[in-house]
Amino acid sequence: MPYPQEVAVPAHRHLFIGGEWVEPSGDGTIEVISPHTERPVGRVPEPTRADVDRAVSLARKAFDEGPWPRLDPSERIAIVRQLAERYRPRQEELAQLVTTEMGAPITFSRSAHARLPGAMIGAFADVAARHPWQETRAGAFGGEVAVRRSPVGVVAAIIPWNMPMFLTVAKLVPALLAGCAVVLKPSPETALDAYFTAELLSELGLPPGLVSILPGDREIGRYLVSHPGVDKVSFTGSTAVGRKVAAACGSALRRVSLELGGKSAAVVLDDADPQVVAEGMTVAGLMNSGQACVAQTRVLVPRNRYREFADALASTVESLPVGDPFDPATRVGPMVSQRQQQRVRGYIAQGVDEGAQLLVGGSGLPSGIYSGWYVRPTLFTNAHNAMRIAQEEIFGPVLTLIPHDGDEDATRLANASEYGLSGSIWSPDIARATTVAHGIRSGTLGINAAYSMDPAAPFGGVKASGIGREFGPEGLDGFLETTSVSIAP
Ligand code: NAD
Repeated sequence: MPYPQEVAVPAHRHLFIGGEWVEPSGDGTIEVISPHTERPVGRVPEPTRADVDRAVSLARKAFDEGPWPRLDPSERIAIVRQLAERYRPRQEELAQLVTTEMGAPITFSRSAHARLPGAMIGAFADVAARHPWQETRAGAFGGEVAVRRSPVGVVAAIIPWNMPMFLTVAKLVPALLAGCAVVLKPSPETALDAYFTAELLSELGLPPGLVSILPGDREIGRYLVSHPGVDKVSFTGSTAVGRKVAAACGSALRRVSLELGGKSAAVVLDDADPQVVAEGMTVAGLMNSGQACVAQTRVLVPRNRYREFADALASTVESLPVGDPFDPATRVGPMVSQRQQQRVRGYIAQGVDEGAQLLVGGSGLPSGIYSGWYVRPTLFTNAHNAMRIAQEEIFGPVLTLIPHDGDEDATRLANASEYGLSGSIWSPDIARATTVAHGIRSGTLGINAAYSMDPAAPFGGVKASGIGREFGPEGLDGFLETTSVSIAP
């Protein structure tokens, strides 16, 4: 075989509960399948409700009685920084693991999946070091008020498969810095990197009970979200599931933050360079083979230059190498699962039925590929914003080109979506692009770039893209309760 194939992954026999490797309570197994070869690449025990009970009760004890929430924040920060040190030397191993389990092109695994976690941990620790953990204010009626930021408690963190390490770190690290105990439930599709994290955590000397990692199915997720021992749910996933999680937390009055889906717009102004935009869209719209919540898959281009932008995008999308994710030349790998492949191909067929025109790609398999869950990178023209391909999250390498009639019209179209997670504006005139950005209801936007994640800045959605923020001081506050003690004058 021309490229290194899947890393050899032995079957894991234990679960990581309360910081220890323990026997699973059931005898079920989760098989992780390579989206490229469709062959098993690893096996982990399937957690049961009894395992969740055990994880939550240990977390409860660690939070209610253990040392972690009572340490000075600087002590927690010092321990968490050691985690970054443990990630860094193992980045290549991690890149290969993520490519093996979910098929991300190896160059993207190296530059994002594997590189970002270490950098993010350091940045989160810096944010925590500057955080106002306690402050004293003058009371409005005299006296003093001591304001404290205390950990929210036992956190249930639920993540999807598309950016598994990134999202693990995005929840686990701020929660630990805040002083919380954590039960993390990754997706079964990406159970292997979860074991990688567990291994690193087990070397850190964290107090007993503090962290459990249980890659289980949706039933385990549902059970964990409703568990009476949980104080806060931090959920990342689809909007449909997010609504269910919110409902469960609503009736229990449990704190919840939701990082959900998107259908973001790339707004191209009429002074933009078609080549710059086309190149930019290979990242903004197609990163991670299009399986990104922030993917900007509605490309709004000026009507009077529509042809130019369509041509530039068509030749760029057409030229993207599709195939073996371990080939460093590959830009678009397989979809994570057959279900996801069928979903994306279904949307492409739907777009054709709706009357959009295929400029590149289509619902057939890419030529020369006979196995693996691949789809053809696809570019639709002759589309309008009300079509399902322009309104629903496809989560694959599918771009839809929509004409606009100027900055105001482009802003209106960008906002004509139930989502508001990300987006970009493309123009050499930064002041003009900034004016357009301020008119768009979205949690994050980039100018002349895909939204580039910055762990110092708040990230999250508006409208159906979610509630709450991660990253930066705002993200840390999501794992804290603010309390006050007034001292009489
Ligand atoms: P999903 O909603 O199907 O699953 C996400 C996680 O929730 C998985 O771990 C799953 O097992 C679990 N789950 C499923 N049903 C549950 C329930 N009823 N209760 C509790 N947990 C449950 O999403 P997916 O298909 O795995 O991931 C893709 C979605 O995630 C896309 O919509 C994408 O936009 C979104 N996403 C959002 C962000 C963000 O930061 N906003 C980041 C990455 C992905």
